[in-house]
Amino acid sequence: MLKISNLHVQLEEEDKVILKGVDLEVPAGEVHAIMGPNGSGKSTLSYVLSGRDGYEVTAGTATLDGEELLGLEPEERAAAGLFLAFQYPVEIPGVGNLTFLRTALNAQRKARGEEELNAAEFLKIVRAKAKALDIDAEMLKRPVNVGFSGGEKKRNEILQMAVLEPRMCILDETDSGLDVDAMKLVSAGVNALRSPDRAFLVITHYQRLLDHIVPDVVHIMADGRIVHSGGPELALEVENNGYADILKSAGERV
Ligand code: ADP
Ligand code: MG
Ligand code: MG
Repeated sequence: MLKISNLHVQLEEEDKVILKGVDLEVPAGEVHAIMGPNGSGKSTLSYVLSGRDGYEVTAGTATLDGEELLGLEPEERAAAGLFLAFQYPVEIPGVGNLTFLRTALNAQRKARGEEELNAAEFLKIVRAKAKALDIDAEMLKRPVNVGFSGGEKKRNEILQMAVLEPRMCILDETDSGLDVDAMKLVSAGVNALRSPDRAFLVITHYQRLLDHIVPDVVHIMADGRIVHSGGPELALEVENNGYADILKSAGERV
């Protein structure tokens, strides 16, 4: 489903190369995790996939079901079925969560040539999704993310994912503010949305997240490349021994 080949990325502003040939394939139905030391380029990879400004792709490709993503606008990527959890955590005072979600969903439907949903149709869908995920519908009436606790933001993220029904979900769980409860929320959401025609890429600075979301494959990123891949046991190895041994046997300098 997601196929990244030889991806090289540098900063636009300065001559700094961050991704140095990332190769990664995530097939439909699977959950892959990326771990790696701080500064190895994990977040940069997710930013580049989301189409954020400031990064220059100097080589390589990233396709979703064969469609090249890298030249597309962020909303075109969404229409292609890509969802990045961190794309929508911003606070938007004055805009209700429901309105925001409906706008996002309709933009996606429009780009796909589908009918837009009216308020009533949308409400029905979103209520059903919230219920299935055990999310309090009260949250839907509040302005987007304003005053949301860390846990509520996570809940909202999962709800956005459920409503937008992306084929490929990318979550970048940085180490800020993800307490045990938030971690459980995210993993329950991901596990509930797992399906044979949807794939997940979970980027995490935490081994513990992977106790709850058991990935099919764990990739280790170091110095701008995927240097090692393995099963879920790899996450445990990292927790117990850190990265040094893995990087050493992968031939990286440590
Ligand atoms: P990770 O998520 O694995 O911790 P990042 O992708 O955040 O790594 O960062 C990779 C490297 O690129 C780091 O050395 C970081 O300082 C640098 N970097 C990323 N984005 C920028 C930026 N916009 N300006 C300067 N340096 C950056
Ligand atoms: Mg970092
Ligand atoms: Mg990061």
